[in-house]
Amino acid sequence: MSKDKVIAIDGPSGSGKSTVAKELAKALGLLYIDTGAMFRSMAYMADKKGIPMTSGSEMNSFLETLNMEYGVSSDCLIRIDGEDLTQKIREHHVSKLASIISQIPEVRTYLLDFQRNLAKEVLCVMEGRDIGTVVFPNAFCKLFITASVETRAQRRLDQLKSNGDQNVTLEQVIKDVQKRDESDINREVAPLKQAEDATYLDTTDLTLPEIIEQLSQYVRDRAKDAGISL
Ligand code: C5P
Repeated sequence: MSKDKVIAIDGPSGSGKSTVAKELAKALGLLYIDTGAMFRSMAYMADKKGIPMTSGSEMNSFLETLNMEYGVSSDCLIRIDGEDLTQKIREHHVSKLASIISQIPEVRTYLLDFQRNLAKEVLCVMEGRDIGTVVFPNAFCKLFITASVETRAQRRLDQLKSNGDQNVTLEQVIKDVQKRDESDINREVAPLKQAEDATYLDTTDLTLPEIIEQLSQYVRDRAKDAGISL
């Protein structure tokens, strides 16, 4: 069976996978798809509309009428019902809501279809928690990226501060990271898990240029094995 033309990158929050996925896509000239942004947008909008974060008729009607658009322009990553959510979804409280909404099976089914459709036409780098295990189990290249909890929390804190969120402390972020890991790993549907055929990479002691150089070659080799031209 021919392989799906997707580089699947999974890993916990703050592992550096978003930066790696973005830079790798740039280095190889491929489309970059951030699935976390989809869960975040959905959580933001459900919260704004007062939809309870549980399975049920209100969530179903919300999903039925939802109009999500991804990669609208270079400035607008994601939009729901015409509202640009690119910046709003990076706020601290949205991370927690995203982790909660991601446990609802109907939400995952909606986004599974959405993600598969997006990747139908083009070669892409898609990052998330379940890309190599559930969304594209037949991807030609799979990576599982992680780093120590302290490193991941520090990276998340730097990101929050650069977004103007000055009131969060490292201790708070460490606790949040641990809590999100626990719920991502233990949820019933599509938990965070390394695919058996994924390559494991710990970024704690590596610099970004080192990672991108190693991975670009690795991806080219996998593409060659799969008969895919990059
Ligand atoms: O990657 P990011 O931190 O933006 O993801 C936000 C939340 O969305 C995660 O904590 C996780 O619970 C959820 N998520 C998921 N499956 C994905 C991507 C994100 O459950 N493929």
